Amino acid sequence: MVIIGGGPAGNQCATYAARLGAEVTLVERDVIGGAAHLWDCIPSKAMIATGGTLGLINAAPAMGLSATAAQLDLEALTARIAGIEERLRASVSGLLESQGVRIVEGSGRLVGPNRVAVSPLHGPDDGSADEVLDADVIVLCTGSRPRIPQWAPVDGHRVLTTRHAYPPPELPRHLVVVGSGVTGVEFVHMFSSFGCEVSLIVSRQQVLPAKDAEVAAALEEDFLARGVHLFKGARAVGIDVDDDGIVVRCDDGRRVEGSHALLAIGSIPNSEHLGLDAAGVQHDDGYVLVDHNCLSNVPGVYAAGDLSGRLPLSSVASMQGRKIAEHAMGMHVGPHRHIDYDKAASAIFTVPEIADVGLAEADAFAEGRKIRVTKVPFSANAKALIDNDPRGFVKIISDPATGVVLGGSIVGRNAAELISVIALAVTAGLRVNDIVESLLVHPALAEALADAAE
Ligand SMILES: Cc1cc2nc3c(=O)[nH]c(=O)nc-3n(C[C@H](O)[C@H](O)[C@H](O)COP(=O)(O)OP(=O)(O)OC[C@H]3O[C@@H](n4cnc5c(N)ncnc54)[C@H](O)[C@@H]3O)c2cc1C
Repeated sequence: MVIIGGGPAGNQCATYAARLGAEVTLVERDVIGGAAHLWDCIPSKAMIATGGTLGLINAAPAMGLSATAAQLDLEALTARIAGIEERLRASVSGLLESQGVRIVEGSGRLVGPNRVAVSPLHGPDDGSADEVLDADVIVLCTGSRPRIPQWAPVDGHRVLTTRHAYPPPELPRHLVVVGSGVTGVEFVHMFSSFGCEVSLIVSRQQVLPAKDAEVAAALEEDFLARGVHLFKGARAVGIDVDDDGIVVRCDDGRRVEGSHALLAIGSIPNSEHLGLDAAGVQHDDGYVLVDHNCLSNVPGVYAAGDLSGRLPLSSVASMQGRKIAEHAMGMHVGPHRHIDYDKAASAIFTVPEIADVGLAEADAFAEGRKIRVTKVPFSANAKALIDNDPRGFVKIISDPATGVVLGGSIVGRNAAELISVIALAVTAGLRVNDIVESLLVHPALAEALADAAE
């Protein structure tokens, strides 16, 4: 097996396939761990955690403490992020090595259905130094990168993508975030928690347009309470830059001034030099078309992670990698083997945190499906009061006839952890009573789950 790309999809696939007995070569042109470790999940959450600690220090008086104000130290923050990334990279590389995976540094591309050519990172650019690898199975896991539209003069100084923000060269006086999906709102939260003035361009009438309206409303309420300026129903069409700052121009004529702009308007696949067409691999705008086993139209060529155009989540990429290893090694028979993307839990690391899994209330109504929705606020939960953070709620969606848990949303502290209980229930087909009858810890935020289930 030859795998191109060592992010979560590639390294999980490599580890599992090697464990199952495959001879595995992993080709990576940058760092093992991928964009997930270097640019996306890890640094963004590390910055959010620093902002969260700042928030806790500021809330000290409410906890019966007096504390002097903490100052953000960009240099120390940069070192902290690098330290986390280094430890994670060492742990993933160690795991791959322990399974006997061969790691080849370089840029890989398909040169046929069973052949990969690897250009060394510092060799001549004429193909003469390429290493050619033959394989029974090839797995494409090259990920994606931020989309930069023509109208956005990204310079990494005043006009940023998420990749310039860990942390940016200077702390913005006033950051204008373009895009109000998951990434956009996380960056709004991050920079407002650092004390920056933040404006958010929201193309629809609700932030997080794909999420439950009540969940989005809870986040908007928090943003407004923090002084975030929301520009709803506005689509950015241009950005002007001068020495003092930027102006984001919107399609309805509004102009949003700030010191810096950050784009969070989606991503594009890393596939333009991957040799897809040469090998006859079908794709849609660079995203490889795959079936439920992540197999492309070319036998033996799989794609996973962001490149597969499915849910762009690290957790999904890892699971796809693992499933490909099982499928390629002939272990895919039996029940519950395919990934059910509708049951993937996801989280948004704002404050309050947001997480959901499974069937959404709005989708059930749209389908005319009968559901039971129960909602319990954290304001009634002892641990939330002890922690001085009673914001948010737990919502569980179940089948009224059988009690089987179909989905749920959580807004509030530790939502990303708590959703695991509902995710387990959804995946295992548990009933609300199974949650009610679990003897939980007291006092704990999880008690709100049992209350909602009851
Ligand atoms: C700001 C941000 C925050 C995010 N936060 C989260 C989060 O909290 N939780 C979550 O689940 N998801 C999160 N995501 C999504 C997550 O980062 C991606 O879904 C995940 O990285 C996809 O993994 P992957 O293996 O497909 O690709 P990647 O992680 O992008 O790895 C691809 C690898 O392939 C390598 N590569 C590319 N082309 C070649 C080539 N030709 N030859 C050799 N190597 C190559 C690259 O160098 C890279 O290392 C976030 C995304 C963004 C943008």
